[in-house]
Formats: sequence, C-alpha cells, structure tokens
Amino acid sequence: MENADIKVYEFEHFNTMPVIVHGIFTRTGGTSTGAYDSLNIGMNSGDEKTAIADNRKLIIRKMGMKPLVFLNQVHGTTIKVLKKNDNDLPETFQPGKETYTADGIVTDMKDVFLVIQVADCQAVMLYDTKKKVIANIHSGWQGSIQNVIGNCLDKMAKEFGCQPENIFAGISPSLGPCCSEFVNYKDEIPKKLWEYKIKGKDNFNFWDMSRDQLMDKGVKREHIENMEICTKCNTDIFYSFRAERTTGRFACVISMV
Ligand SMILES: [Zn+2]
Repeated sequence: MENADIKVYEFEHFNTMPVIVHGIFTRTGGTSTGAYDSLNIGMNSGDEKTAIADNRKLIIRKMGMKPLVFLNQVHGTTIKVLKKNDNDLPETFQPGKETYTADGIVTDMKDVFLVIQVADCQAVMLYDTKKKVIANIHSGWQGSIQNVIGNCLDKMAKEFGCQPENIFAGISPSLGPCCSEFVNYKDEIPKKLWEYKIKGKDNFNFWDMSRDQLMDKGVKREHIENMEICTKCNTDIFYSFRAERTTGRFACVISMV
C-alpha cells in the first residue's frame, strides 16, 4: 500500500511551528480509480468503500499512525469539542467511520488528527499558540453564509478561553472567485453578502468572505494564510465538485504534537 506519489501542501506559517503537524493531501497517491482517481477519502462520494478505507489508511500511515477523526459534514454550523480531560471520548477512531456529525472540530488534545474532507469547499485550520488549541472547519458556500468560521472562533473562546489575537488561520485550496458563479445568488446568498460579488459577474469571493469572518472576530490579517489555489482550475491536483460532479474528496488534516 506504500505509495510514493502522495503529495502534501502545507501552510508556511504552520511550518514554522514545531508543535503543528498538518497537510493538505492532493488527489494523487491513492487506490481509487476512474472519476475518483485516486486518494479519495469521501465516504459519501459514491466510490468503493474498501478503496476509501485503504486511502484513509494511507493517510494515517503518512501522518505517523496517529488517530484521525473524520466528521460527517452536513453544511451546518455545529462544532464538535474534544477536550483532553473528557471521559466520553471514543475508544478508537476507525478509518472507515465518521466519528461525529459536525462541520468543525476543536481540541486541546495532542496526537489526534482533525480531518476535513473537501472538493471546492474550504477547510479552515486554526491554531491558538497560547492556549495550544487547534480547530479544523468545513466551510462551503452554505457554511460561509451561516458563518461557521465565526461560530468556531466563539466556541474556542467559550470552551478554552482562546483569544483571537493568538490564533493563526490557514485556508485550503477551494473554489476561487474565478469559478464561484452563483446565477441564482438572489435566492441563495443573503443581500448583506453581495458586497463579495465580483463586479459585472455572478461570481462571489468566498476567500475574502472567510478572511473577513476571521478578522471580524479579531484574528489578525497577517495571521491568515490563504493558499489561493482554486480547485476547479486545478482538477489535475485536487477534486472539484463543480468541475467534475462525480468526484472524490481530498483530506485536510491538522494535529498538535
Ligand atoms: Zn478557478
């Protein structure tokens, strides 16, 4: 199962922090075939379950055999909190299972990988350097209009006493303003967010929206890193639901050591 083709993208600021281990996996280096070629981890993508489980095991191996927590993502705003002193943690994290239904997860636990699976949606990773708390958020356009990012920052403050000025953020490859056309935006996107519409087009800049949602809660602009890679423009590297429809999900993972 060892595959040399696994490629990982990383945020520059997280790479300067030895306590953070993270990565954005591409679609290469896995076992899925056809439209799902090849490192698909999306259990609901229509791909064969055995291939998905094998791909998840490849990622676990690549990340050093630490447990990975997968979410059943539903385009909502629920944030799961995992605390290291809680007694109700699951005994095992199984690669074929989504452990919780949520669109964000926060923890102060070490050696646990938080996984967000995407194909155009953003994975937004957070790290509080003072409180030593990490988070991973699934924010697609529905997450953007519901401000799941702001909800997660509120949760970090409430549950762990995190202060936004100590938080660093990374925004994964995702649908760029070049490709995020919403012809029915008048029905789908609230008017207060029309300021993010590109002039003369029906496209929206969800990258700017996420940056502003982070900054509205007090995260510093210089602590926000966006890879600014559009998934729809780069289907040779990443999965894109808009470009491909039948496709996989790539893995965005973060952990503390
Ligand atoms: Zn694009």
